[in-house]
Amino acid sequence: MKTIDKIYINGAFVSPRGNERFELISPTTNKKLGEVILGNKEDAIDAIAVAKKAFKTFSKTTIEERIEYLQKLKASIENRKQDFVNVMVEEYGGTFQFASVSFDYMIGSFNSAITLLNTYSFKKIMGESEVQMEPIGVVGIIIPWNSSNGFICGKLATAIAAGCTVVIKPSEMSAQQTQLILECFHEAGLPKGVYNVVNGLGEVVGAEISRNPDISKISFTGSTMVGKMIAKQAVDTMKRVTLELGGKSPNVILDDANLSKAIPMAIAAAFMNSGQACIAGTRLLVPENKLEEVKTLVSEIVSKTIVGDPKNQITAVGPMVSKKQYERVQNYIQTGINEGAEILIGGLGKPEGLEDGNFVKPTVFVNVNNQMRIAREEIFGPVLSIITYKTEVEAVEIANDTTYGLQAYVSSSNKDRAYKVASQLQAGRVQINKIGHDPMAPFGGFKQSGIGREFGTIGLEAYLEPRTLIR
Ligand code: NAP
Ligand code: MG
Repeated sequence: MKTIDKIYINGAFVSPRGNERFELISPTTNKKLGEVILGNKEDAIDAIAVAKKAFKTFSKTTIEERIEYLQKLKASIENRKQDFVNVMVEEYGGTFQFASVSFDYMIGSFNSAITLLNTYSFKKIMGESEVQMEPIGVVGIIIPWNSSNGFICGKLATAIAAGCTVVIKPSEMSAQQTQLILECFHEAGLPKGVYNVVNGLGEVVGAEISRNPDISKISFTGSTMVGKMIAKQAVDTMKRVTLELGGKSPNVILDDANLSKAIPMAIAAAFMNSGQACIAGTRLLVPENKLEEVKTLVSEIVSKTIVGDPKNQITAVGPMVSKKQYERVQNYIQTGINEGAEILIGGLGKPEGLEDGNFVKPTVFVNVNNQMRIAREEIFGPVLSIITYKTEVEAVEIANDTTYGLQAYVSSSNKDRAYKVASQLQAGRVQINKIGHDPMAPFGGFKQSGIGREFGTIGLEAYLEPRTLIR
C-alpha cells in the first residue's frame, strides 16, 4: 500500500497543507492500491506564488539554456520506460501496448520542443516593425487521467521552450504516475519553481488555478463541460486559454477503400486507449452498399479483440479507469438500445471472467443515425457506431454534423480522392489511410473540441505574447 503524501513546490517534495485523502483503486481488480493526500486552495496559491517568482529569471533564460533543461528532463525519464509502463498499467489500467506508445510520446514531446527551439525565431520583422515573442507568464496546466504523463510532458516541454513557469494539477487518480515522473524530473535539477505540481480536486485546486490573477494562461485537456467552466472563469482576468476537449470523430470509409486494411484500422481507432481517447474514431461512416461486408469484417475483428488484464502484452482493451467511467459507458450502451440502434457485437455487462475489474465488452452498434445520442455524445469507452451514407457529399455532411471537431479519419485507395474529402472535414487533424501523430504539427479542435492548438510553431506561440516595436 502506497501513500502519496507530498506535492512538489519550489524544487522540493513538500507536505500539502490539505489533509483530505483520496483512495487509489485498481481498475483491474477494484482493490485499493494506495492513497493520495490532496492539496488544497492554499497549496495552489503557494505553488502559483513560487512559479511567479521563478518566472522573473526563467523568462530571461537563453535558448541554449532552455534546450539544456529540456534535454535534462528527457534524460531523467529516458531509461525508466519499464517503470512508466508498469505504473500506468497498474494505476490507470492502460494496456501495456498503449502505455508503451504513451512513453514514446513523452520522449517525443521533449525532442520536438528542442527541434522547435533550434529553428524558431523569437524576433521577427513584420511590416516595418520588430515583433518580439515574449513568454506569456505562469501557466496553469490542468489535465485528466487518460494519458497523464503524456499530457504533462507535452505541455511542460512547450512551456519551458517558451520560457514559462508552470503549476500542474493532474487528476488525483494519477497520483502514482505523477509521483514517478516527479522523482525523475527532480533528478534533472532544473531551477527551483519552474514546475510545481499540486495533487487535488478540480473544484478546489483547478478552480484556484482558473481564478488566480497570477496565472496568465491555462492549458487544459479534459471534458468540454469543464473546459467551458474554466474558460468562463479565466476571462475575468483575461487569461489566455488552450482547451483540448472532447471529440466524436468520424471515420469516413470511401467506397473504393481496401476494407481488409481500413476496417482493422477503424477498430483500432475506435478502441485505442480502451476507448478512453478524445481522438477515438467513434463514428464509422460506410457506404450503404458495403454495409454487409463491413458488418462481417467488424464482427470478425471485434470477436478476436483481446479484452482483459492490461499488463498482458497482447491485450487490446483494458478496464475503464473507474467504476464511475464503467457506469457511464454502460449507460450509453443502454441509451443506444433505447434509441433503437442494434448491437452488432458486445453489449451490456462485463465480459465473462472479468467481473472484478471495470471491464466492458467492446461494443459496436449498427442502424445508428447521426442524431442519436450515441452518435452525438462522447462516450469515452470502446463503443463504436456504424452509420451508412449514400454519396460522398452525404458522407462529408454526416461527418461534419457534430458539435465536435478534434480528429477525423478517411480511407480510400485513391489518394487524390481521400485528400479532397479530408480537406472538407471540420476537424483539427485528419488521418488519411493511417493513424499517426506529428509532434511538429498543430493539434487541437474545431468547434466545441476546443480553443487553440498544441505542438509545433502554433502550439509554441500559444505560450508567447507578441510585443511590436515601432521604430
Ligand atoms: P474532467 O472532469 O474534464 O477533468 C479534467 C481535469 O479538470 C481534472 O484534473 C479535473 O480534476 C479538473 N477539473 C474538474 N473540475 C474542474 C473545475 N471546476 N475547475 C478546474 N479544473 C477542474 O474530466 P474527467 O472527470 O477526468 O472525465 C470526465 C469525462 O471527460 C470523460 O468521461 C470524458 O468524456 C471526458 N474526457 C475527455 C478527455 C480528453 O482528452 N478530451 C480526457 C479525459 C476525459 P478532478 O480530476 O479532480 O475532477
Ligand atoms: Mg471530473
